[in-house]
Amino acid sequence: VSAPLRDRAWVEIDLAALTHNVRQLRHFLSPQTELMAVVKADAYGHGAITVAQTVCEAGASWLGVATIPEGIQLREAGIEAPILILGASNTPEQVQAIAHWNLQPTLCTPQQALVFSETLGIENRSLSVHVKLDTGMSRLGTIWQQAAEFVQLVQRLPHLKIASIYSHLATADSPDPTVMRQQHERFEEAIAFIEATGIKGPKLHLANSAAALTDRSLHYDMVRVGLATYGLYPAPHLKAINLKPVMQVKARITQVKDIASGTGVSYGYQFIASENMRLAVVGIGYADGIPRNLSNKMQVLIRGQLVPQVGAITMDQLMLDVSAIPDLQTGEVVTLLGKQGEFQISADDWAATLGTISWEILCGFKHRLPRVAV
Ligand code: PLP
Repeated sequence: VSAPLRDRAWVEIDLAALTHNVRQLRHFLSPQTELMAVVKADAYGHGAITVAQTVCEAGASWLGVATIPEGIQLREAGIEAPILILGASNTPEQVQAIAHWNLQPTLCTPQQALVFSETLGIENRSLSVHVKLDTGMSRLGTIWQQAAEFVQLVQRLPHLKIASIYSHLATADSPDPTVMRQQHERFEEAIAFIEATGIKGPKLHLANSAAALTDRSLHYDMVRVGLATYGLYPAPHLKAINLKPVMQVKARITQVKDIASGTGVSYGYQFIASENMRLAVVGIGYADGIPRNLSNKMQVLIRGQLVPQVGAITMDQLMLDVSAIPDLQTGEVVTLLGKQGEFQISADDWAATLGTISWEILCGFKHRLPRVAV
């Protein structure tokens, strides 16, 4: 007998919000611009299979993953949309897996291109490949000044068909556009050199969520959108469309008790009751992905009210000061991330407290929390 999905703690995935976000994005893009939903890292913690199915129905025509196993997981689930692997693949075994599962690789170096061409040659099959240019991110990609040379090499190698040429932006979420514009110019320059060699036809793409929400000059033939798909804004100044957060994190009250003034709470007694108070224990902790550094710094929602968390967050449990809700019952639901009534606690709030970004918060929830589609 399997445990019920909502018995202790869980992540709710609002598929209507996901569909809404994709439609909003689709509406914002010109009809010729394709939408790639970036579903790497288990769709930023939302559950890759369900998300991939939903976004493809809602208007995404491509999927982006980071790794080969992430792509295989989608194929095994019967998903047929084209899948780009955004990470690097270098070995013949990887080439075979990519070809077998009908995935599409990113190529960044001549060595990779040779391994792909030779390995595919053995089985005499060909593959669509995507050339990645480094225009200033200093991560994967051929440096933009050498783009034309590299693209010509890939073009000449047997068994490889260049489906797209792309690059990734380092600062698209910054209010200062200088670096992004520089990367954009370098991309334009590289493409001009490539086209001057007679190579035309591959799709071009550059934009992540932030650039997609900036302006159409950055959209090219496709945009690769992760964060915005999940209903979060990459930056406060980029709210061009209406997005709804897809994820909510919830857990149940497992015990309620009264403690006297002066009583210490949880490991290390980081919190000591300054008066008599009512305490609630919740069945969720850092092993579920609630960052321990939020201890004594976070609030949760119960019955539409904000309630402070107190004491160190432990591996599987955390405590709340529920003095304001004297009739609180065991089994009641606590919203850690999400909305109740007029209040919303978002991944942006946690990120601000922790000095990180909402992307990391979303990816941080562990598999111990079942993902429940609502
Ligand atoms: N494109 C590439 C190459 C990425 O690595 C990512 C994610 O990091 C994205 C697009 C999507 O970025 P975002 O979640 O900011 O939309």
